[in-house]
Amino acid sequence: MSLPQGRLDSLQPGTVAILGVPSDENSSFMRGPALAPRRIREVLHAGSSNLCAESGIDLGTEARLQDLGDLSLDTGPLGIEQIKSAASDLVERGVYVLSLGGDHAVTYPIVSAYAEKYPALGILHLDAHADLYDEYEGNRYSNACPFARIMEEKLAVRLVQVGIRTMNPHQQAQAERFGVEVVDMRRWQPGFQPAFEGPIYLSLDMDALDPAFAPGVSHHEPGGLSTREVIQLIQGLSAPIVGADIVEFNPKRDPVGITAMAAAKLLKEIAACMLEGSCRS
Ligand code: MN
Ligand code: MN
Repeated sequence: MSLPQGRLDSLQPGTVAILGVPSDENSSFMRGPALAPRRIREVLHAGSSNLCAESGIDLGTEARLQDLGDLSLDTGPLGIEQIKSAASDLVERGVYVLSLGGDHAVTYPIVSAYAEKYPALGILHLDAHADLYDEYEGNRYSNACPFARIMEEKLAVRLVQVGIRTMNPHQQAQAERFGVEVVDMRRWQPGFQPAFEGPIYLSLDMDALDPAFAPGVSHHEPGGLSTREVIQLIQGLSAPIVGADIVEFNPKRDPVGITAMAAAKLLKEIAACMLEGSCRS
């Protein structure tokens, strides 16, 4: 499916567009992230918090922020192509896409769309997992593989991974082959801040956070980042975020709704950074 032409034509360059990508068919372990976009919006607008980011920017009155709703997707390769096509329609117009996954498989088609407009794109990838498998259980488009596809197609000039705590020999070899800058949790220190100069694509897998802060994910991996540490990392970026995704939130594993609130909170902080060009201003 593509976005309605009239809606597309109404979007000015510099708009930040929230786009739901309800796809979890490439999840290697558990379904559920397809339900995430609706659930994040629900808590965002539930009235328990306001719509201000910590910088004071009010997303509730910000005309440059537009919610385009959810994509309606087919399954299989066609669905992946539809995600890329929808992202391309936006990126070509100078719109900044903030997508709500979905599992991490959605990042590959979205970054494919970005690479065409941003040849100097750097990716900041926050995750417990490197997602660098060449294939996983026979699926090259698995949620375990997006960064292998991105790097072998040279869709980014840099890939910096933070939060990693499940590295294995195969993915380590892949990281070396592709020149990935891996900041795993053994080496990570409070206050660590990756330096970017060019435009940044931020890919946030909710399992980068410790399950104590975000239990609503399919792959619980203790020993991760706190919500505040992820916020500080985002707020400390000095280069513009031109695109971002929030993926792998699984509402089926979120009994008290705290992961939904964490995702909504991070959405607000990321959107504010995208609107302001850079958070550290
Ligand atoms: Mn991931
Ligand atoms: Mn992960």
